[in-house]
Amino acid sequence: MEKVMFGKDLKVDTELNAEVEQALAQAGEEQLLPIVQLGEPVLRQPAVAYEGQLKRKTLAKLIEAMHQTMLEAPGVGLAAPQIGLGLAFAVVEDHLRDDEDDPREIAELPFRTIINPHYEPIGSQCASFYEGCLSFEGYQAVRKRWLDITATWQDESGKAHEEHLHGWPARIFQHETDHLSGEVYIDQAQPRSLTSDENLGEYWAYDPVPTQAAEELGFEL
Ligand SMILES: [Zn+2]
Repeated sequence: MEKVMFGKDLKVDTELNAEVEQALAQAGEEQLLPIVQLGEPVLRQPAVAYEGQLKRKTLAKLIEAMHQTMLEAPGVGLAAPQIGLGLAFAVVEDHLRDDEDDPREIAELPFRTIINPHYEPIGSQCASFYEGCLSFEGYQAVRKRWLDITATWQDESGKAHEEHLHGWPARIFQHETDHLSGEVYIDQAQPRSLTSDENLGEYWAYDPVPTQAAEELGFEL
């Protein structure tokens, strides 16, 4: 793989950089960026590979704002198209909850910027759980995903990383990476599992493996 360094500001797209700076200025001190909702074309277009289109400092500020926006939402991942920017990167972060027996296998996923991410399944094991998206507010649906993946990405300096992810962190990585090819989780979710957040809390939240939801709403796990 060609070594791409983002740090030298040689490939800056001046116009795009100015647009991002303007969005950051509008985000104000709280650094909260508006999250676009389904129906916005940018969510459906493949993102352009990141090759240093933004100045190093602009990228750093943008990532910080995306981090703040994700935490405030709250969410565990946010892809650039979700803030209206068609570049191939996302931020992710999740932490252990109280329940060690949670079948979703939630685990520590330290804050990371994943640039030009890619994944390949390891083995053929899948898991089906409810998931949601900050760009499809108020709803969740059951989505089958690979349980184990080899995740590859670049960091802010262009350095390449590769890691085996399992369980919930693997799901988050797949969800965010899919955003960058214009996919949203609902595209391959079980349509009949779709539930409002309110009804998820009311009926299905106590049973993370959605066996009963599958039975009562009528979908395959
Ligand atoms: Zn999403």
